[in-house]
Amino acid sequence: MQNLHYKKQNVFSLADEAQLKRIHAFGEKYKNFLNYSKTERDCVKLSIALAERAGYKPFRFGDKLTVGDKRYYNNRGKSLYLFQLGKEDIERCGIRILAAHVDSPRIDLKQAPLYEKAQTAFFKTHYYGGIKKYQWTAVPLALHGVVTLADGTLKEICVGEEEADPVFYISDLLPHLSQKQNEKKLAVGIEGEELNLWVGGMPATNGENDKARDSVKEGVLRLLNQKYGMTERDFLSAELTAVPAYKAKDVGFDGAYIAAYGHDDKVCAFPALMAQLESANTHTTLTVLADKEEIGSEGVTGMQSMLFCDILEEICLALGKNIRAVRASSACLSADVTSAYDPTFADAFEKNNAAQCSAGVALMKFTGARGKSGASDASGEFVAKITNILDGAGVVWQVSELGKVDLGGGGTVAKYIASKNIDTLDVGTPVISMHAPYELISKGDLYHTYLAFKAFYQ
Ligand code: MN
Ligand code: MN
Repeated sequence: MQNLHYKKQNVFSLADEAQLKRIHAFGEKYKNFLNYSKTERDCVKLSIALAERAGYKPFRFGDKLTVGDKRYYNNRGKSLYLFQLGKEDIERCGIRILAAHVDSPRIDLKQAPLYEKAQTAFFKTHYYGGIKKYQWTAVPLALHGVVTLADGTLKEICVGEEEADPVFYISDLLPHLSQKQNEKKLAVGIEGEELNLWVGGMPATNGENDKARDSVKEGVLRLLNQKYGMTERDFLSAELTAVPAYKAKDVGFDGAYIAAYGHDDKVCAFPALMAQLESANTHTTLTVLADKEEIGSEGVTGMQSMLFCDILEEICLALGKNIRAVRASSACLSADVTSAYDPTFADAFEKNNAAQCSAGVALMKFTGARGKSGASDASGEFVAKITNILDGAGVVWQVSELGKVDLGGGGTVAKYIASKNIDTLDVGTPVISMHAPYELISKGDLYHTYLAFKAFYQ
């Protein structure tokens, strides 16, 4: 008899011995990827290296293209487009698109960051993306980014990732003296201007007996000048950010989970990249690793940039196809994370419509807040088309809504692609403690995210 009920499944209990092995093996590859892609720049660099190994070549506007071509477009080192031209007619069958983002919430430096107070050197910061500020105190932070020197040379900075490296630190008040702080609302317990990075404590003393030079700030400037050739002026145009110095680790006695910085959205970007690199050339496939999603997908490297349409147009021009027809028949999975039901904070979720850890990749028909505002809200027909593809490939999937109605909300890049007349559905991995310095995902969900993206491209 037909089963009339829908019930969530557990990916681990459905997996046989061989699949369990594949789940753990994919988790290992992912952890390694995470450790070298903490910022969008790091992630784009690593993704290009992996793409080149898979036979992808750089694309320049105006290049001739033919079926079977594998190309990537590096957008200013911060976002990446990869595509492979398939045998199918793209006017009739469209392009299959996966769009993930590779920026994550973090602590950016201000443009004039360095100052000294109480014989300590600090960096002023301005956080990037939606964070709970108190979570970023008293944890080890690494510094990543670039500085352009006066002569134009670009210096890459990465301190805090190697075992022998120092890390950086944001302080919090000791509990013994926190009576007043404890009265504050959680959101302002630590305020934006209190996220000051400890970066040095030794004065540049060398017998000069010059009070101005005999300072900790001077000591830090000298070290930076020795190591990178930079001066204080070079900070003004630098792009430096503090990210958690943690490495990705298995969680639990059984290693069912992975904790790491930046699951949002590398947990979708990595499977999307793998699906692209492994895809056969039936469909034409395009994978976007976007920047700036966490601050509204703005700017030249965000998903709202014209570049997305430019790339589509280049593909259509090269193949002699009508771009309007191609967009109308294309399909996109907006590959982004969703919140996972957390039994400790059950009050925030409506359980029937919340994604659960290890119940598979999550489909979000809509995102947004307060009456679906800001959501692209995929059509039911398109959701069914995707679930049929997933069912056909044995992918374990579930539906998801971020949390209870009117409790908050969020958005993804989906609406920026849907607005180009391309059917788009949010599909991604459920995450616990999203936007925290150390987030949690289920290894089984990661693997089924990968299976879902592979099925979509196959
Ligand atoms: Mn995201
Ligand atoms: Mn996010």
